[in-house]
Amino acid sequence: ALKAGIVGLPNVGKSTLFNAITQAGAESANYPFCTIDPNVGVVEVPDERLDKLTELVQPNKTVPTAFEFVDIAGLVRGASKGEGLGNKFLAHIREVDAIVHVVRCFVDENVTHVDGKVNPISDIQTINLELILADLESVEKRIERSRKNIKGGDKKYAQEVEVLERVKEALYQDQPARSIELSDDERLIVRDLHLLTLKPVLYAANVGEDEVATAEENPYVKQVREFAAAENAEVVPISAKVEAEIAELEGEDKEMFLEELGLQESGLNRLIKAAYKLLGLYTYFTAGVQEVRAWTIRKGTKAPGAAGVIHSDFERGFIRAEVVAYADLLAAGSMNGAKERGQLRLEGKEYLVQDGDVMHFRFNV
Ligand code: GDP
Repeated sequence: ALKAGIVGLPNVGKSTLFNAITQAGAESANYPFCTIDPNVGVVEVPDERLDKLTELVQPNKTVPTAFEFVDIAGLVRGASKGEGLGNKFLAHIREVDAIVHVVRCFVDENVTHVDGKVNPISDIQTINLELILADLESVEKRIERSRKNIKGGDKKYAQEVEVLERVKEALYQDQPARSIELSDDERLIVRDLHLLTLKPVLYAANVGEDEVATAEENPYVKQVREFAAAENAEVVPISAKVEAEIAELEGEDKEMFLEELGLQESGLNRLIKAAYKLLGLYTYFTAGVQEVRAWTIRKGTKAPGAAGVIHSDFERGFIRAEVVAYADLLAAGSMNGAKERGQLRLEGKEYLVQDGDVMHFRFNV
């Protein structure tokens, strides 16, 4: 399953946020494939389209799609040199598909800041520097090896060295590897280095509990927004403390509390949606009377691969898929309506599944 890792300096609110995530918890019976690990929280992805499909089909059961957040605590200054449990944490980051970087934007004298004062940009740079140093080590090692291989006469290593030298140069300038333009071929070359700074990042700006409705006016949030804009990263303002409280509520109580706070939806929902997007994921739906359900695929997945997310038998025995775009189905009002309008398509093995496709698979057992 795809994962987003939560990182940040100590005392910025990571555990508080992670607790809100596990508290809000997905119904694990629906997601048997998810990891059972205290550092992993499974979240359901809020999706208005799923609600609309449920109204339309009136199924017995509705199941959202889910992904995982991993709590990666313990990243401190010097981690790349092995400070704290440095290298171990960096290894955990290597395994995630995207990074949620929690940044302290709340002021509270009772909560110690590791550097003595709240300064989100300096915090971000501290963490980024550790990731950059770790990447530099990987890149330099690889360059050395590839140079030897060039001497051995293999030409493809010359290109590898050329790309890696560019990555190294960027890292030396304190720029993350994701800031470099890479062609598909070049991407393939660097892929197995699992560079930390190549992973997409979003900043969760943790504001005080009395600032949720006015987070955008918080000067620290503004600083983070400016910084993130320069590196094309997203920012989600959130109050971890408030989210922990929201996560304990359900139904009407929750709605009322959100209204009191002046929020349309919880910060956690916004964070989940932003992380899902950051991971580059698409959702497709199955819509039967038994169950209406959302499924996650990576952009660029073909129909058999999408079927395989439901069950490997569906992929192996794949024949065809009946497909209707979500918007078409909604406008037609029913499957039959969509069919009459000629919007229900039969697609084969090469079909690239689109975000929002409503699918029914035909397969051999
Ligand atoms: P971590 O070290 O990054 O995991 O940080 P924690 O989640 O343990 O939070 C450190 C301290 O900051 C705890 O005492 C939290 O209660 C407090 N904290 C977290 N978020 C907020 C917030 O929005 N406002 C205030 N006042 N305190 C917070």
